[in-house]
Amino acid sequence: MKQIQMVDLVSQYEKIKPEVIEATQNVFQTAQFINGPEVKTFQADLEKYLGVKHVIPCANGTDALQIALMALGLKPGDEVITSDFTFAATVEVIGLLQLTPIIVDVDRDTFNISLTEIEKAITPNTKAIIPVHLFGQSCDMQPLLDLAKKHNIYVVEDTAQAIGAKYTFPDGTVKSAGTIGDIGTTSFFPSKNLGCYGDGGAIFTNDDELAAIMRSVVNHGMGERYYYDRLGVNSRLDSVQAAVLRIKLGHLDNYIAARQKAAAFYSNFFSDFDNVETPHIANYSTHVFHQYTLKIEGLDQFALQDFMKSKGIPAMIYYPMPLHTQKAYGAENFNHEDFPITNALCKTVISLPMHTELDEEQLNYICSAMKEFLNK
Ligand SMILES: *Cc1c(COP(=O)(O)O)cnc(C)c1O
Repeated sequence: MKQIQMVDLVSQYEKIKPEVIEATQNVFQTAQFINGPEVKTFQADLEKYLGVKHVIPCANGTDALQIALMALGLKPGDEVITSDFTFAATVEVIGLLQLTPIIVDVDRDTFNISLTEIEKAITPNTKAIIPVHLFGQSCDMQPLLDLAKKHNIYVVEDTAQAIGAKYTFPDGTVKSAGTIGDIGTTSFFPSKNLGCYGDGGAIFTNDDELAAIMRSVVNHGMGERYYYDRLGVNSRLDSVQAAVLRIKLGHLDNYIAARQKAAAFYSNFFSDFDNVETPHIANYSTHVFHQYTLKIEGLDQFALQDFMKSKGIPAMIYYPMPLHTQKAYGAENFNHEDFPITNALCKTVISLPMHTELDEEQLNYICSAMKEFLNK
């Protein structure tokens, strides 16, 4: 049996090697490393795939969030609401721009930000909400958009874990996660569902004005050449990464299908265990399974992790600490009791290996190891 990894990028590469070599060699031979044709082609391909007017490539997913917030013209002290249960970058950029992070609890079923908690947290200073489509499933966007519109608040979707997920509106309209709010952001970190071979990211919007501002922000705030209209950053996707991404985008639907197949295998297996809760698939979103995360009441996560490790199987705790408890994000401003769901999730979740290359032999082996631990 092939060695089991959380993400098996080497096996994935073997299957697309000739295409990737051809595309990247072409970049080397033409030496158009920065903003070359590959970047423009990938940008156009991704716009088409997502059904969004503007894709603005940038250097990574954290920059994408920062640039999105910079484009909204917020002032220090403006409040930005986001989730307690996500990767740190989402909250980090809010603080970095001297905005005030308002962290709120999540929905137990979906792991995504709770609409009720958002509503409670809105004040006259609230200027933006960053919903995170965690683990590969879209937040329920229609009620969130309604709430944002009512209070005149921007919505920036963190789509780093959910590229390719589709949200269905109550009226039946279907849109890609990340293209629904004012701005969407994503990461092409290698282990993400659409990952490059280094760092990369992108920003999405249907708004021409915001797009123009963000294209300027990523390029030192430049408008006309050598005229600097605003403070910007230097954040680019390089042509080699764009070439890799263009190839991998062509496989993304198959990659998503492979993840969904592995997830269905796991969920079918764990349906026999009363104390194991498999991922909830909401009726308004497809799930692209960036992570396959179980909830197990009364679990000793570290004992399970050690047991799996002894069998040669990695398992991860995403995420072990609520963000409201982190020193960097103003832990002292938050009341621990206000976050019962995240506090409990951090102690009950375990993520199993999830990637495009898992075969049945590996899945059977992982499941039987889990069974052995759970029946002990
Ligand atoms: C990975 C990730 C990011 C950051 O992306 P980088 O490319 O690593 O900067 C932001 N938000 C979420 C939810 C992520 O999973």
